[in-house]
Amino acid sequence: MKALLALLAVRLLCAMERYEAAETHMGTLFRVVVWADSPPPIREVFARARELDDSLSDYRPESELNRLCRAGQAEVGADLWTVLETAQRISRETGGAFDVTAGPVVRLWRDARRTGRLPTAGELRRARSLTGWRKLRLDPRLRRVKLARSGMQLDLGGIAKGYAAGEMLRLLSSRGFPRALVAAGGDIAAGDPPPGRTGWSVEVFGETIVLTRRAISTSGDSEQFVESGGKRYSHIVDPKRGSGLTSRIGVSVEAPSGILADAYATALSVMGAEKARRFAAARPEIRVRISLAGEGLHRAP
Ligand code: ADP
Ligand code: MG
Repeated sequence: MKALLALLAVRLLCAMERYEAAETHMGTLFRVVVWADSPPPIREVFARARELDDSLSDYRPESELNRLCRAGQAEVGADLWTVLETAQRISRETGGAFDVTAGPVVRLWRDARRTGRLPTAGELRRARSLTGWRKLRLDPRLRRVKLARSGMQLDLGGIAKGYAAGEMLRLLSSRGFPRALVAAGGDIAAGDPPPGRTGWSVEVFGETIVLTRRAISTSGDSEQFVESGGKRYSHIVDPKRGSGLTSRIGVSVEAPSGILADAYATALSVMGAEKARRFAAARPEIRVRISLAGEGLHRAP
């Protein structure tokens, strides 16, 4: 009987095929890989990515996020709530290194990358006065969000892709497709392993990591820089100093979920290698890898 069952299991595993699809959302190529014995609901999975972009985007003027910023306060939907609540928890934990209210500062440095001109002291002062995670207030009873100052701009660029990857994976699993991987650029969420394997192999900083029901995110890619006076300013900003990071640090974080991996990878880049290592050492659920050359993105299977 046992042998028969084992044989059946082998048969089922052998019948599995690899399905793969890719689409661009949130300005990033999302790649979905699924092992299954029938076609997975790929359309539904990408529709979820679109739905999340409609809610969380800081580029789309009509996103739920931007409507909230214009109104100054609003009752928000479940996704935006989850992302903001997690963001605030991580801000508190990281002493403000992660900060979704840094939108005005992020925009200044984004413009600098486009035009090659650095922000002026006045521009930076104003942007910093609109930044600070304590200026973002959440009321869990009513699921209401309030911005303390008008002109504040929330930016979920450091957390939304990881959340999306995790949510797409969760959707696949809930539809009976747990052997899946979702990679949104450097934000990867892995589910159950491919048949006959112990996990999904992902390459980070030249090392091959095998992931099962875990996520990994890498921040600090070397392409997103503006160069001025021999300095390179990253698209990741230090919210307190109001400046783009200048150190060429690459941080990769392995965590239980996509949202945590993404946000921690951004936060730990701001904290720097030494603090980041200490931070991770106190948290058994995460694992950090650091590349001081500032290079090396993931290559997923
Ligand atoms: P990538 O976009 O390359 O995956 P990240 O996940 O680190 O890299 O996200 C960087 C983005 O996060 C920036 O483009 C900006 O939108 C936002 N951001 C920058 N600095 C911070 C910060 N200190 N805290 C939270 N978000 C940030
Ligand atoms: Mg991030």
